[in-house]
Amino acid sequence: ACLERVSNSIPEGPEPNNNEDDDVLILRKGLEDLQLQGSMEAGFTGKDFGGMHSTKPLAVIRPSGNEDISKVIKLALRTPNLTVAARGNGHSINGQAMAHRGLVIDMKSMDRIEVHQTPSYADVGGGALWADVLKRCVSFGLAPRSWTDYLDLTIGGTLSNAGVSGQAFRFGPQTSNVTELDVVTGKGDIVTCSKTKNSQLFFSVLGGLGQFGIITRARVLLQPAPDMVRWIRVVYSEFSEFSRDAESLITRDERGECESFDYLEGFVFANSNDPVNGWPSVPLDPNHPFDPTRIPCSAGPVLYCLEVALHYRRNDSPSAVDMVVDRLLGQLGYCKNLRFQVDMSYVDFLLRVNVAEQHAKANGIWDSPHPWLNIFVSKNDIPTFDRLIFQNILNHGVGGPMLVYPLLRSKWDNRTSVVLPEGDDIFYLVALLRFSPAYPKGPPVEDLVAQNREIIRCCHKNGLNFKLYLPHYNSEVEWEQHFGNNQWTRFVERKSCFDPMAILAPGQKIFTRKQ
Ligand code: FAD
Repeated sequence: ACLERVSNSIPEGPEPNNNEDDDVLILRKGLEDLQLQGSMEAGFTGKDFGGMHSTKPLAVIRPSGNEDISKVIKLALRTPNLTVAARGNGHSINGQAMAHRGLVIDMKSMDRIEVHQTPSYADVGGGALWADVLKRCVSFGLAPRSWTDYLDLTIGGTLSNAGVSGQAFRFGPQTSNVTELDVVTGKGDIVTCSKTKNSQLFFSVLGGLGQFGIITRARVLLQPAPDMVRWIRVVYSEFSEFSRDAESLITRDERGECESFDYLEGFVFANSNDPVNGWPSVPLDPNHPFDPTRIPCSAGPVLYCLEVALHYRRNDSPSAVDMVVDRLLGQLGYCKNLRFQVDMSYVDFLLRVNVAEQHAKANGIWDSPHPWLNIFVSKNDIPTFDRLIFQNILNHGVGGPMLVYPLLRSKWDNRTSVVLPEGDDIFYLVALLRFSPAYPKGPPVEDLVAQNREIIRCCHKNGLNFKLYLPHYNSEVEWEQHFGNNQWTRFVERKSCFDPMAILAPGQKIFTRKQ
């Protein structure tokens, strides 16, 4: 009865409730009665990495295990309004890990990492950071196969989306590199699932935007960890040549070629000396600056950088590494003399964004708003995207990296909940990673959000085949369009099966809590 009073008195919408303190007290009592093994505190107004949304949950729970999460979900089920959001590391952009006047489960308390050597896999808590998984695994000479660019993200957070980086062309996204999950569903059931056991739940939660269950453990496939990485960037003035070479490199395996880079990404940059958006964003070694006299006269307002990496072992001879690199780069059509490279340890390579993070923190742009936009664009339409968006709307840059690189559809399992553009065997990830100083030092965030909308409108208007990655919509109709007919029907069926009262991940704004 107490709990009923709490949630009945929770107003719909964001207005503060006058009886807020009373409600929190009553709810605390309800939660205390659950005798959780973990801890709990009253909710405080929280932001995420996007920095554009903030909400106040009623309480934040730090679970000690599956049972705690199950009890919290079952408690929410007994009320008419309460929702539950798992929060990984809160690195979403648009409030996806928030629960306004609901319960937030801070998954970082579930960060166990257990490495098994034969066969090689790690059983990892849903709240562990990928950076910690890396450090733990390399101490056994092992490492996961598929990464994100930045590793202070949780296992549960990236598996709920896809988890993509330069290894995905070989191994698929992180969702293709886990073999078993423990999940607490929206009904409070604790279920172990895999491709062969409770498979519907397994595929639902992968890329499932937190809608079907909370991932509390993932079994992550491992491979032997290399010692070293040669990290190389080469520059193109023509998109057609950049994309031809990038696509040729990612399909070498399919063409039976045994040598291949271990990592491939790319980015677009302004053809100017702008320190953030232009030529200086390319070099990897401070002793080897960008020489703009090497840019062909025919170049347009933007240039393209293909970024590749080759793994090797410390005792491989430098000439052997050079030979492989030369063979792989030899067939490419980049601007000769616009090639940059460094050698570094595998761990430093994977943690490379942490260096950028330290700089960004020092100059305040890590904590400013980040209206990022991530899009998957089909191979057929990426040249048009380049012409309309990169060469026009964004030809001065976005104040941070503008990634663009190809991925192979065959490495993605279409039984997961991830949404990809239909058709082509290759599609591109485009990531506009805006890092502007907060207004008034930088542009108003509303202008940047408006530019994102303009980009999406332009894609629609020109009939481009694309899907948002890390999607964000405000209405069910838009979500339905995002998924497309068949996938929407499947998504709704999965919801009614695993979270029929729509308790979970309300911050995604896909479904409304049922009473
Ligand atoms: P949160 O933001 O906390 O949560 C994200 C969503 O997942 C929420 O809906 C939440 O409720 C749900 N959720 C969280 N944990 C669980 C769980 N255990 N079970 C079920 N649902 C859960 N993505 C890439 O693919 N590749 C990249 O290279 C990449 N780089 C990034 C770099 C930076 C600096 C940032 C900020 C983000 C980057 N991302 C990248 C995006 C990132 O993968 C997503 O934002 C991801 O959701 C963040 O993980 P998180 O642990 O912070 O999750």
